[in-house]
Formats: sequence, C-alpha cells, structure tokens
Amino acid sequence: MPLIDSYQRRIDYLRISITDRCNLNCFYCRPLGGLPFIPHEMILRYEEILRVVKVAVELGVRKARVTGGEPLMRRGVVDFISRLSCAGLEDLGLTTNGILLKDFARPLREAGLSRVNISLDSLDPRNYQRITGSDRLKEVLAGIESAEEAGFNKIKINTVLLRENNETEILNFAELAFSRGLEVRFIEYMPYLNGKEWQKDLFLKAEEVKKVINSRFSLGPVEPQEKPGVAEMYRMKGGRGTIGFISSISRHFCGRCNRIRLTSDGKLRNCLYSDEEIDLRGPLRGGVSDPELAEIIRRSVQTKPERRPNFSDSSRKCTRTMDLIGG
Ligand code: SAM
Repeated sequence: MPLIDSYQRRIDYLRISITDRCNLNCFYCRPLGGLPFIPHEMILRYEEILRVVKVAVELGVRKARVTGGEPLMRRGVVDFISRLSCAGLEDLGLTTNGILLKDFARPLREAGLSRVNISLDSLDPRNYQRITGSDRLKEVLAGIESAEEAGFNKIKINTVLLRENNETEILNFAELAFSRGLEVRFIEYMPYLNGKEWQKDLFLKAEEVKKVINSRFSLGPVEPQEKPGVAEMYRMKGGRGTIGFISSISRHFCGRCNRIRLTSDGKLRNCLYSDEEIDLRGPLRGGVSDPELAEIIRRSVQTKPERRPNFSDSSRKCTRTMDLIGG
C-alpha cells in the first residue's frame, strides 16, 4: 500500500538531513552564535538512515534528496551516497552550498548521485561575505564548474532573495542561467528563525522578481511542462537556461506536497512548516522491526497537515531553523 495522506496526496519523496553542521553562517538561516551543535551520539548513523530509506522505499518512496546543515561536511558522504543509490530509489539528489563541491562533484556522480542543487545567494564577493559570513565564493563557483564537468542529469542553483541584500543581483543570476544553460530558481524567504521574529522587511515576492527579469529577458513557458513541482518554470528565449520561482509564501503549493523529512537527529517531520515530529532514533536503537517502523512512518503521513500555517500570525515561532530541519 503506497503512502497516501488523509488529503489523498501521495507521499513519495524523502528529504534526508545528514548533519546539522554547516561551514556557512548565513544570517537568515544560522546566524553566528546560533544554536549549539547536536551531540554526535544523537545524530543518526548512516546504517540507521539506510534502514529508514529501505522501509520508506517499500512504502513507495521513489525520490530522496540529501541535505543538511552542509551534507558534504559529514565524513563518509560519498560512500553513503553510493549505498543510498542502491536502495531502490528512482531519483537521488543532494543540496549543497557548493563550497566543497569542487573535489566532491565527480566522486558523488560516480557514486550514483543524479542531481545536485547548489545554494548561492550572491555572485558578488562582498555581498556573499555579508550574507554568508564567508569569503569562499570562488570555491562555490569552482564547485559549479566541477558539477557541470561531472555530468549530473540536473544542476540547479537556488537563490533566496532578500530585499536590500541581493535584490540588485537578480539580473546577474538570470544572466548566469542564460549564458551557462543552468537552472536558476529564486526562492522566497521563509520565516524560520528560531526564537526570533521573521524579518518581514527582507521578504521579496516572486512576482516582483519576475518583473525585474522580464525587463531584460524574455521568459516563455517550459514545454512540455514537467511534472508539476514546487517551482514555476520558465525558459529564457534565445538562451539555454531556465528560471524558476518558488513562491513558498506568496502562493503555497501544499496541495501538491509529496514530501516527508528525516532530520539528522532522527525525527520524522511531515511538513516543513509544522513543529510536529515523530522520533525514529529511539525505536531504531530500541530494536524496532521493519513492519513497526513502516507503521510509524504511516502514522506520520496520516497526520500531515492539509496546508502550512498562516504566516501573518507574527506570534508563531518555529522551534527549528532550516539548517536543523534540512532545507
Ligand atoms: N547547506 C546546504 C545548502 O546550502 O544548500 C543545505 C542546507 S540549507 C539549510 C538549504 C537551503 O535552505 C539553502 O538554499 C538556504 O538558502 C535555504 N534557507 C535557509 N533558511 C531559509 C529561509 N528562512 N527561507 C528560505 N530559504 C532558506
């Protein structure tokens, strides 16, 4: 029996966070002096993650994406990917900030990774430093080149746009997509700062971004439309690139959500925006059987909310930041 939630959505996509550690301190994600790292023994071992994946695949999960924290910081990640690529999934991706990608791209591709998403919020070294707290932009750009050379099926650049931070770079990102044939996706900034108010003044609506791009480039619909995903996709007339808009805030896509998430400390989350979690680490270490594990996963899917909460409620605070959930 496939995993179908109580709103008839088929759940076939698992996001797997393998670490809460990161080599960047993006101010909107994990500001310096943020939360302490999760103790090592509380992080799921690769064997434990693979066991969850095996059971999830038996329940009809077909697609997985490895994330973090920064997944390339965890020791043994290439070997883990090669084991994951034999777990019966049809599609395996990874999301990275690209800093370590230069050396990892080819080994990851050879290990069976098919897609890579690279998060990059600025193409300007000073701006990059301001947003991420790091001066390693050059390494990210070298990482993108290595990924292109390694022959991944799909390379996507994910850019969170933040008013008065990188909004002046919209056309530079569009130009990157146009000239290099990359897929650049602009993501709306979401309220995820543990214990802090959402910095609403940073929010930039996808529609505004689209207008800026249309002032220079001509966007046309992607034909044939790919299976509807979270991004609204456009091709760039006269160039090879594509542009996507992920309007998580201005236009939610909960009706099409097919995801569940496994955090690095072994919690199953059925919605990025809900704080409800089911613990898998305890059962995994307590000798749970595969059918019992399957039942826990089913239970989590059954309680998946119909849609995300209303963010205009400014009193709402999420207990985890994105790096702790696995963005
Ligand atoms: N380290 C990896 C990376 O950089 O891609 C994976 C983890 S990171 C948390 C995943 C993505 O979440 C990044 O693209 C980051 O920009 C995004 N992110 C973090 N906080 C966010 C927020 N408040 N709103 C929107 N995206 C956010």
